[in-house]
Amino acid sequence: MKVNLAGFNLDISLFDKLFNQISNGGNLTEAEKILEKIELTPETISAAYARISRSQKAVDVLRQIAIKNVTRARKSNKNIVFDMGHSSIAEHAVFNFDIIGISRYLIEFVQRTRLASYTEKSQRYVTLDGDFVTPIELDARIELKEQFLELIEKQNKAYFELYNKLIYYYNHKNENLQNKSRRELESKAKEDARYVLSLSTKTQMGMTINARSLERLLKRLYSQKFKEASELADKLYHLAKNRTPSLIRYVEPSSYDRGLYNFSNKNNKIYDGIENKLLNYSPNIDVNILAALLFRKTGESYEILKIELENMDYDEKLNFLKKNLQNIESYDPLPRSFEYADLTYQLNISSSCFAQLKRHRLSSVLTSDYCPEYGVTIPTAIKNADLENIFNNIVSYTNSVYTVFADKIPQVKNYVLTNAHHKAVLFKLNIRELCNFARLRQDKHAQWEIREVANFIVNEAKKVAPITTKLIAGKDKFREKAKEFFTSVK
Ligand SMILES: Cc1cc2nc3c(=O)[nH]c(=O)nc-3n(C[C@H](O)[C@H](O)[C@H](O)COP(=O)(O)OP(=O)(O)OC[C@H]3O[C@@H](n4cnc5c(N)ncnc54)[C@H](O)[C@@H]3O)c2cc1C
Repeated sequence: MKVNLAGFNLDISLFDKLFNQISNGGNLTEAEKILEKIELTPETISAAYARISRSQKAVDVLRQIAIKNVTRARKSNKNIVFDMGHSSIAEHAVFNFDIIGISRYLIEFVQRTRLASYTEKSQRYVTLDGDFVTPIELDARIELKEQFLELIEKQNKAYFELYNKLIYYYNHKNENLQNKSRRELESKAKEDARYVLSLSTKTQMGMTINARSLERLLKRLYSQKFKEASELADKLYHLAKNRTPSLIRYVEPSSYDRGLYNFSNKNNKIYDGIENKLLNYSPNIDVNILAALLFRKTGESYEILKIELENMDYDEKLNFLKKNLQNIESYDPLPRSFEYADLTYQLNISSSCFAQLKRHRLSSVLTSDYCPEYGVTIPTAIKNADLENIFNNIVSYTNSVYTVFADKIPQVKNYVLTNAHHKAVLFKLNIRELCNFARLRQDKHAQWEIREVANFIVNEAKKVAPITTKLIAGKDKFREKAKEFFTSVK
């Protein structure tokens, strides 16, 4: 694993002298001397902003004061952020990290941190070169390590076999795809073959995160029982702490944290009946949202507006919505009023599908631990191409290794599971976020499994909120939907 601090925010005025020196044709040694004197830390911006609330001075003056005395700025941060509890001050320091060669399993855990930005190597287009993380814990368990390596080898072999056979299938048997380029067929084959790859597959991502979120992420990582998590935490901590000692301070997880972020080992769990389902939703979604729209415009009592809306018939409500969404385009978010109703779903989805779902940060995502008893997703193309045997063999071999690991070394058992293995998820989102989710995941470019899940989620929502979900669709269908909607009722 390799972690680089790729960037962080700095007060640009620190470089004024340097820019002058360079633009006046000064030599490089002078420029280097100037650079050497600059303390490169985002803490001065945090310290200056922290003082805004009580100081008479203008904020640019406060920034200059912080730059001139970094030690004092750090002391002030410590007092204001940690002693007085204004934690949001630490959000003004932002880092960019390259995280290279970590497992898919660990990425899943890192991305539980919502207030951060991630871009990762797409699993959809992975070109397997046998790169995987071998959990450090296995170094002391030679027999288990051999079992692990043997499994990965079998999974990789199955991947290549499925990949080649799927290309053949698409080329010769699937009429819809016969005119596609070789590259497109390879992409499609990869997309499905990778379902047999394990969560130990290596990947990389760019992460942008502020100091407050990072501190919390570090605490979470240190609370985990598998060593790859603490290895990543050590690297991130070392890089960030050196730059911002006053903003990253409390990273040791409490016993509360350890309880919170780890799964129970209770036996005899009941997995039956864990299927995709709309579990619950706010009452009167359409009325609540339309009343919120009206409240925003008129400022009248929300309760009275709700009664008024309840007395409107279906067409009147639809017309009211139409008036309020005039000229909306596929890239415009719905108004905030659409946040005044929530839907909660239970989902039983593959790791591959979850990898995409978890990226929707404005939803609430709670997951169970992985467990083979939740089942697996078998891509339809694999079934149609008569490749189920290869797939099922690798899944059952994986499950047998998982059982041994669950017993002997439970902290790393999930590394052996595949992209096809399921977990249960509680997914909660409001109608505004549902719209964003649907635009991206019902769209024709979305991966097929998450598109199926998105179709299910949206169809269930339409049953309980027929009016306010009228414009909810994939981006590719938006114009068609909008045309239908705006011409539906006079
Ligand atoms: C076809 C497809 C391919 C993809 N391929 C990749 C890939 O290869 N690699 C990869 O890493 N990801 C990929 N993604 C994931 C994608 O980049 C988004 O992370 C994901 O779809 C979540 O979208 P979102 O950020 O709009 O959702 P949410 O996180 O739920 O955010 C909802 C909305 O809130 C606002 N918002 C949320 N957070 C912020 C913020 N920090 N700053 C500003 N505004 C914010 C935005 O308006 C956003 O649209 C892909 C997605 C799709 C649909």
